[in-house]
Amino acid sequence: MQQPVRIAIVGSGLVGSLLALYLKKAGHEVHVFDRSEDIREIDFSGRSINLAMSTRGWKALDGVGIGDAIREIAIPMDKRAIHAVEGDIAYQKYGMEGESIYSISRGELNRMMIDLTEKEGVEFFFEKKIWDVKLSEGIIYIGETERGPWEELKYDKIFGADGAFSKVRNRMQKQNRFDYQQHFLNIGYKELKIEANGLGKHLIDKNSFHIWPRGEFMLIALPNLEGSFTCTLFIPFEGKYSIESLKEEKDVIAFFEEFFPDTKELIPNLARDFFKNPTSSLVTTQCFPWTFEDKVALIGDAAHAIVPFYGQGMNAGFEDITQLFDLIQEHGDDWLRIFKEYEQLRKPNADAIAELSYRNFIEMSTKTADPDFLLRKKIEAWFTARHPQKWLPLYDRVTFSHKPYREALEIGDHQKSIMDEVMLLPGISESWQTAEVENLILSKL
Ligand SMILES: Cc1cc2nc3c(=O)[nH]c(=O)nc-3n(C[C@H](O)[C@H](O)[C@H](O)COP(=O)(O)OP(=O)(O)OC[C@H]3O[C@@H](n4cnc5c(N)ncnc54)[C@H](O)[C@@H]3O)c2cc1C
Repeated sequence: MQQPVRIAIVGSGLVGSLLALYLKKAGHEVHVFDRSEDIREIDFSGRSINLAMSTRGWKALDGVGIGDAIREIAIPMDKRAIHAVEGDIAYQKYGMEGESIYSISRGELNRMMIDLTEKEGVEFFFEKKIWDVKLSEGIIYIGETERGPWEELKYDKIFGADGAFSKVRNRMQKQNRFDYQQHFLNIGYKELKIEANGLGKHLIDKNSFHIWPRGEFMLIALPNLEGSFTCTLFIPFEGKYSIESLKEEKDVIAFFEEFFPDTKELIPNLARDFFKNPTSSLVTTQCFPWTFEDKVALIGDAAHAIVPFYGQGMNAGFEDITQLFDLIQEHGDDWLRIFKEYEQLRKPNADAIAELSYRNFIEMSTKTADPDFLLRKKIEAWFTARHPQKWLPLYDRVTFSHKPYREALEIGDHQKSIMDEVMLLPGISESWQTAEVENLILSKL
């Protein structure tokens, strides 16, 4: 048990609100500040980012007793549904033991978490933008404009959970020897929508994560509770097929007819939504250190924003919280030690999931439709069934386990080099359930 302290959390997003609940339950006085309006009072129909929640995320929610409430608004997806241009759909089960990832509306999840957190006594202050922080004294500065006047509030601890373009991190960047880098992908995204049918039912399988992989661009769709799907088109900003080249309604319609013909009936408002919805960009940010003395810590996207292709950004932010709390259990009031060990433990894992997420665009957009890739997956699944202690496929290690991301990256690279050799065996596509394949893999492990 720790001595109660006064804590300010900047950002009431998914990570900030969950962190607030953990800290409140640990006995602290917690105030959460957000520059935006209270999300519970905003009508966000029209734009509804969906997230895939997986094992790491559920652990964090269950750890503070709200997992079951959140499961009520989640839809299990136990497979990928790969849509070919010709309209065939190939289904690929996730996991070795029938595991699922879960589709959740980010807005609904955030609303619910703020509600549950507020009920425990955390105070939320909306439309309060933090402009600056005095790190050594634990002071945050709030005001209407950058020029002031600012209100000054002092706390024992400050957590920066203020997302990819964090102001708290911004202040930390001004210190000597603070590392920071950001990288924008040349790929942007647009949200589109598959509506429910007239009876409020899903028009395509609701328990699948749908992918239309087309190489340099791809479309995905995740189910919503009321029968619709949120679709995301990932596409380069410039080039032959790009945001830049799709200038007019007729361009968008022709593009979809050529590459996604089976969506014609499913996305009735294609051109309207394409031009109405904004094009968003994708950034990876990396920084270090994540803490300042025993006063200030960054968490979630503020510490490590990643591209969304592994579905792990929020999951990784939630895992920051569970691991921070393991350290709190271990070190009690020694906040300096807690913060130091927290950043040392999490940073290599954040870098690893950033790299894996970056690589996964290629896997999702190209390889999911590639027969070689599918054969690799089959061989891996077969070997895992025979030697579950010796081989856990990379996707499962990232998505359905609590093993460190850093380990997943290292072991995944090693597994890939073994599978590269296996795929060179003569006649591998005809016969792969053989002692030769099994022994080759065993000898390399
Ligand atoms: C298209 C897309 C798909 C994704 N899919 C997945 C997925 O499937 N699975 C997954 O795990 N993750 C996914 N993610 C990542 C996930 O959305 C983020 O990792 C997660 O939302 C980060 O939460 P956060 O609380 O750290 O930051 P944010 O959600 O960005 O919240 C930050 C909060 O801080 C507030 N704020 C910012 N600046 C200030 C300030 N100066 N003063 C006060 N308040 C401030 C903001 O208003 C906001 O409420 C996806 C992301 C994108 C873009």
